[in-house]
Amino acid sequence: MYRRDGVVMRLGLIITGVMIALSLAGSFVVNFFLTGKSWIHEPLHSSLEAMGSLAAVCLAILVLLLQRYEGFTAHRVWISSAFAAMGTLDVFHASVSAGAPFVWLRSIATFAGGFFFVLTLMRDRQVRPLVAFLPPFAIALSSVILGAVSAYYPYALPPMVEDGRFTAYAMAINVAGGIFFLIAAANFLRIFLSRGRPDELIFLNLCLLFGLAGLLFPASEPWSVDWWLWHVLRLVAYLIALPYLFFIFQRFEKELQKLVADLKISNEELEHFAYVASHDLKEPLLSVASNIKLLDRRIRKGKHEEAGQFIENSLHQLNMMQQLISDLLIYSRVGTQARAFENVSCDAVLRSALANLKISVDKKQAAITSDPLPDVMADPVQMVQLMQNLLSNALKFCEGRPPVIHVNAVKGEGEWIFSIRDNGIGIPVEHSGRIFEMFGRIHKERFHGTGIGLATCKKIVEHHGGRIWVASEQGKGSTFFFTLPIRHGKQS
Ligand code: ADP
Repeated sequence: MYRRDGVVMRLGLIITGVMIALSLAGSFVVNFFLTGKSWIHEPLHSSLEAMGSLAAVCLAILVLLLQRYEGFTAHRVWISSAFAAMGTLDVFHASVSAGAPFVWLRSIATFAGGFFFVLTLMRDRQVRPLVAFLPPFAIALSSVILGAVSAYYPYALPPMVEDGRFTAYAMAINVAGGIFFLIAAANFLRIFLSRGRPDELIFLNLCLLFGLAGLLFPASEPWSVDWWLWHVLRLVAYLIALPYLFFIFQRFEKELQKLVADLKISNEELEHFAYVASHDLKEPLLSVASNIKLLDRRIRKGKHEEAGQFIENSLHQLNMMQQLISDLLIYSRVGTQARAFENVSCDAVLRSALANLKISVDKKQAAITSDPLPDVMADPVQMVQLMQNLLSNALKFCEGRPPVIHVNAVKGEGEWIFSIRDNGIGIPVEHSGRIFEMFGRIHKERFHGTGIGLATCKKIVEHHGGRIWVASEQGKGSTFFFTLPIRHGKQS
């Protein structure tokens, strides 16, 4: 869901751009203006690393938790594992003083992080929640053991610094880790470009900085200015990733709450729908049953000549039921089988609706006129359904004179206001809300119908983000209004 979120996407692109620019500018300044400078400050270094490791652990947890919304995947499990390994090893790195374990712990943190990030190249697949939580926890635990052993048995470690310079071991581990990170960064870029997932940008950003830091490691010396620069850049990458993922997390939560609220409303609607539908469907069914009973009695008494009437009644009721069921189907499909909105000419919609109603228009000798109608972004099929329902009502609820109908549209504030005016029997003002409800028929005795047409119209209009209402004077006619928001796209 957040993939279509423009804010998340823009923010991701800006952060990535800023971070790349920052690292380039930083490298430029350090290499051209501060060459050969160094500064030994263990407490500051420990603080930076401690903050970084805390951020990495939080990221590991956040990446795991985010999967609750999208489903657990191997891809995300490896990312979480990478953060878990780096976070735990960096805790030890921050807590030991300069010496072999100090460089060793940072180097293996780079290597392990890069290694687990590179595993995201493997084919992605869905995993069960329990399986998803296992690798990051196991990796964090192993890192704790490795960190503790490294800190307590420093003499068992390969030499990392000799004569104030990094050894070949240190360089090899860091360069290998850096290469892993850069390969992973390329993969995140590929995923971002193909699937448009903005959070991949943040991982790309992180891997790029960690990768460059690893590759440039052989060129730096402990405590040199560029050594400090990469520490700061890595920390910034962490500290940016954290609120960004929180931001996505919060967007998911919001979306979820909206979905729950929508679900509640649709559940209530469904309950109401089931209640009225069963009531209105029962009516013709009961009538058929009583007709068959009467028919049975007549046949037993040998009065075959009266049977025709009961059969005719039953067939009429069954037709009624068939109509009800097909109208209910149309109604229920409005939300579920809607097509993507496209540019629709309402003049063409009116022509289609009139063509479908031609028999009725000719029979009633109706005069139908219209002003030029606009183009709108809508579902073309539903637009024809809407127009046809309103026109067929205007043709139907007219007694004693040929229907005179006029269709019009005017531009309101950010919306088009359509109107369909007739000279029919009109609607008592107290019923002007009820007619849009399911089975809200008010002229039951005089006109046949299912009472689903206007409910369907309301659902279509609301699906398009508009409103529908009626203004009427009994005996003089009605005007049905509906609005459609003016959306971006080709609309005139
Ligand atoms: P149906 O037409 O099947 O009865 P609708 O949902 O289309 O069901 O309409 C609901 C009720 O609203 C109708 O039964 C009728 O009483 C009233 N109605 C709808 N359109 C008009 C109209 N143009 N003029 C007068 N009454 C109307």
